[in-house]
Parts: sequence; structure tokens; C-alpha cells
Amino acid sequence: MALTESVPTAAPPAHEGILRRQSLRESAARTYARSLPIVPVRARGLTIEGADGRRYLDCLSGAGTLALGHNHPVVLEAIRTVLDSGAPLHILDLATPVKDAFITELFATLPEELAEKGRIQFCGPAGTDAVEAAFTLVRTATGREGLMAFSGAYHGMTAQALAASGGARHTDVVRLPYPYDYRCPFGTGGARGAELAARWTRSLLDDPKSGVPDPAGMILEPVQGEGGVIPAPDSWLRRMREITTERRIPLIVDEVQTGVGRTGAFWAIEHSGIVPDVLVLSKAIGGSLPLAVIVYREELDAWQPGAHAGTFRGNQLAMAAGRATLAYVRENGLDRRAGELGARMLARLNALAAAHDCIGDVRGRGLMLGVEIVDRDAEADATGARPADPRLAAAVQHACLDRGLIVELGGRHSAVVRLLPPLTITDEQADAILDRLADALTAAVRTTPGPMGPSPTTTRGISP
Ligand code: PMP
Repeated sequence: MALTESVPTAAPPAHEGILRRQSLRESAARTYARSLPIVPVRARGLTIEGADGRRYLDCLSGAGTLALGHNHPVVLEAIRTVLDSGAPLHILDLATPVKDAFITELFATLPEELAEKGRIQFCGPAGTDAVEAAFTLVRTATGREGLMAFSGAYHGMTAQALAASGGARHTDVVRLPYPYDYRCPFGTGGARGAELAARWTRSLLDDPKSGVPDPAGMILEPVQGEGGVIPAPDSWLRRMREITTERRIPLIVDEVQTGVGRTGAFWAIEHSGIVPDVLVLSKAIGGSLPLAVIVYREELDAWQPGAHAGTFRGNQLAMAAGRATLAYVRENGLDRRAGELGARMLARLNALAAAHDCIGDVRGRGLMLGVEIVDRDAEADATGARPADPRLAAAVQHACLDRGLIVELGGRHSAVVRLLPPLTITDEQADAILDRLADALTAAVRTTPGPMGPSPTTTRGISP
């Protein structure tokens, strides 16, 4: 499917009917469907075609799942090969040639310490299942209960994963400060802010009266994705590794979103050189189909048979699609490509920030990029940060959609415009994405009053 400008046409009734029935029948908890009222019918690479006949550049990529974009030929071929072979599609956790090949390919990409002495557990199909498994694993291995996690984190929606996430309402997980340069909790930002965050963590662990018992594990994302695209400094990650190693606390790194080349290295941990005790993987490892695993040091393998189970641990199509994706990224150096292209896109986003008061910060690593939208009329605080402007961010998202560009919002206040394009995009496609975003920003600023003004009228007529 060629990259073409979106051609607005009168939406055919089927499109409107499907959206209307969706809003009548689906849950109030639905999310993307509210801000992206489109009905995808075909997709290839970066492009989605809607039932309304319009084409969209998809910078959401299944929430960062589609490393190779939609329906990449090597992924389709891998799926077809399994289907045509007569292999069973459902096999619980039995061994198969497809699974064996997936593990071999995955291990070939891992740091030596994990590849040589690592164990893998196939979990239920979602990232959140793998997070649960990681917690059970470290609790069993250490005999301790508590967990440490970071402000702004996102680890999933099952009970324990949610408790470790920033959106938790009831939790006994100890919350630590994540180094967030633009909104530094210590008011300093930069290397100093990250150092203070590390000191706080260390003092909680070493102060016998901190009220924090020794935890079973610490979980962190190398780049917070849902939290607003916040890359942790490499030096801070190394400090977290030191602190946890010295105190024999298993370090769980959640690479559900950052893995498979996304940040400019095959795994984001490679930037800092740290090797975690447990690596949580999902999204891109299934090549667009559901698959989730943990890989961990063998010393932790002290749990009993069935300690973590799940009917859907053996999705053969996902393993085949995942193996093909991992191999394609590795063989074509798409991790390096993501790093280079991401740096160029970041430079253009910085230029955009210089021209727009409503952009407080741009940041990211590789092809995981974020633009924080702030109140352009507000005073900056002592650290130079201005309050988030979620309403303007929503207007930017709408304006992007009107221009045939799908972007996601994230961050603490849903005011960070997130770009997660496939790693396969061309330079021209990257330019097209940024041109549309720039145009959308200008339009949204023109039509949206500041946060204290009257409610904006939406540009699309479909209610959530
Ligand atoms: N961890 C991270 C870092 C994620 O970004 C996500 C999903 N966005 C999850 C875990 C949960 O994955 P899932 O939605 O597949 O349960």
C-alpha cells in the first residue's frame, strides 16, 4: 500500500454504523476507540486504511507492538508456514519445533549472562501476565513479599501489575521516584535529579526505621512509555543495578514496550549495560500476536511446577511470527536504524518546540518519542516546567487524525503526544509524520483556548 495523502471522502454508512454500534454495545472502559474513531479494514506497514476509505499513518503501532508495522511479509509468511504445516495451534506448554526455534532466536539476542544461564517461562498471552509471573518468581526465590516500583510506571492491568503501576489506587508496593527531567520531583532535573532519586532509594533500603522492609524485588522500565516517554539516564539505571545487587534484591526490568529495537538497541538495557535478574517481554516479541515471557537467572528458578500457569501459553502462530520479527530486526540492523532515525526525528521535534510555546519538552529514545504539551499562558515554575495541558493535547490528537495521522496520548496528565512508528519506516515517511504533526499543532493551537477558557468544539462529529 503506497504512502499517499489521506483522501477525505463522505464516510459510507457501514463505517458510521459500526462506530455507532460500538458506542452502544462496548464497555465504558474502552480507550483508544474513543479518541480514534476509525474502522480499520486493511493495513500494511505504517498505513491503515479505514472503512471510510481514508488512509492513516499509524504511529501507535498497536501500542508499540508492531516493530515491523502491519502485516509485514516475513510475518505473514511465518504464520502461513505454520498453518500449512498442519502443526497444532494450541499446545499448552509442550515442546514443539516452532517453540524451540523461537527460544533459540530470542536467546541469540540476549546479553550473554542471560542467554547462557537464563531460563524462560511462557506466561499467559499479555504483558501483564508476565509481570505477575515475575513477581511470583522473585517472591518464591527470596521468601520476601514486598515490591518496589516507580512513580509513573505502567506494568499492566492485573492486580499485582496494576498495584506496581503509577495508577494504583490501593497498593502496598513501595513507590520510588523515577528520574523525570522535565518535572523533577527534587526540583533540579538533569544528572543531579537522577542522583537524588537514587539516594532516596538507597536511604529507604538502608535506614532501619524507614518503614520499608526488604523487598522481594524492584521493577522498572528503562524508558517509561505510558508514563510519558521518559528515558531513564543510563547512569541511574546502573545505580539501580548496583543498589539491588549489593542488597541481593532481584531487579526486574520490564521491556514489554522498549524491546526488539524500539529504543535504538535490541533491548533497552544494552544502552546502560545492566543485566537484570528478570526480563519481562511481550508486545513485539509476538510479531503482532499475543505472546509474553520472562527470562531470568537460573538461580531464581526455585518455584514449583504450576507456580505460574495459563491455558494460552503455547500460541504457535505468535511464536512463529515473533521468531520472524526478532530475526528480521537483528539481520537488518533495525535497532540501529531506529536509533539513527529517532535522533533525526527528535532534532526536528526540538525545532518544532522552539517554534511552539505549547511544547514544554520533547524527549525519547530511538523510535519511542514524546512531545509534552503544556499551558502556553502559564508561568513556568522554578525548574522551567509549565502545567500540562491535556485539553490542547487532545485537540492535537484530533487534528492529527483529521490529517491522517494516528498518535497516542500518554503521560501523567495525558498531555504527552507519543510517536511509536514501526522500525521499518522510510525517511520520507518520517518526514510525512512530522509534517502532519506540525500542521496539526498549529491548527490545534489556533482552535483551542487555554485550559481556563471555554470547552473546545471537537473537529470530528463522532461521540465516544
Ligand atoms: N509493561 C509495559 C511497560 C507496558 O507498556 C505494558 C502495556 N502498555 C504492559 C506492561 C502490559 O502489557 P499488556 O497490555 O499486554 O498486558
